[in-house]
Amino acid sequence: MHRTPGLYVALQNGSIIKRTLVTNKGETELDETTIGAELIWFAELDFSTYLDALIKIEDLAEKTEDDGDPKNYGTVYLDIFDELLTEVNELVYDIEDVYPALGSLLRFDLLDHTPKDDGTAMYVYNAKYAICEQIAEPVRFYILLREVLEDLSFGVPLDFEDKYATLTQGTVTQRYTFAGTLETEYCFRSIKNYYKFLLINYLNSNPNVARCFCCGQYFIPKTRKATLYCDRVISNGKTCKGIAPTIKHKIAVDTDPVLKVFERTRQKMYKRYERAADSLKKLSKGISIEEYWHWSEAASAARDKYLKGELTAEEALKIIEVND
Ligand SMILES: [Zn+2]
Repeated sequence: MHRTPGLYVALQNGSIIKRTLVTNKGETELDETTIGAELIWFAELDFSTYLDALIKIEDLAEKTEDDGDPKNYGTVYLDIFDELLTEVNELVYDIEDVYPALGSLLRFDLLDHTPKDDGTAMYVYNAKYAICEQIAEPVRFYILLREVLEDLSFGVPLDFEDKYATLTQGTVTQRYTFAGTLETEYCFRSIKNYYKFLLINYLNSNPNVARCFCCGQYFIPKTRKATLYCDRVISNGKTCKGIAPTIKHKIAVDTDPVLKVFERTRQKMYKRYERAADSLKKLSKGISIEEYWHWSEAASAARDKYLKGELTAEEALKIIEVND
């Protein structure tokens, strides 16, 4: 029996996930993992190349339409639109090559949301808009997931009323079947819906997340005790835990001036980014994904360098703080 293409997921014992990727080429059993490990894996991916592609695609989408000369109002440039489609295809192929599940989910999502070509200018308009939305969606979820993990690791209560309201809205599973046994299988056809489903299940399990003060990556501590460093091997076979004693211990968020400002600015910048993401026209002080990204990358790096004693508080604050 052929199943509809999608990523099929079954949960076991609440935290183990078994996954089968079904594409036109066949079925592939993916490595068994846990919800927490899979979420952290996604949250630690380097999205910079993807973001560059998104910026390029958005730029082409804008140039597809003539907005300069009123005489040309409504004119679409099909050669530029074709360039956009080529760019999108390359992006999907590139991801499929390295991360088959993510690439396929993105492909399904684009298929499900791009209108059919009826030869009109309206098609080009609707298609480019839908494509940009679908390409931006995984980055937006990635940013949201990193915010959730950051809040969890700092013990900040999650704000489901406002900041994370989208997590409580809408259904995420498209379809489920019973695979012979009484096991429920969920089928996903988008990156966001798959990770949103995992995140909701994860949050229901009273998760324990920490951010390593050495490598800066998120991890799941083995005990409920405060754990500062992870077990990742980062240099010469040494783990973060192994080299940790050489790092300054400045972990009191309440009292450390740099960590305090970082936390405050992070919340502020996320609000500004959300303001722009929610609205078609940018509201005042709204910032784009790219602007949020650049701040976040630079500020996190400055914070980590400060914790390692490579930057003074003053130097770090100069990078982290946004005064306006
Ligand atoms: Zn580490």
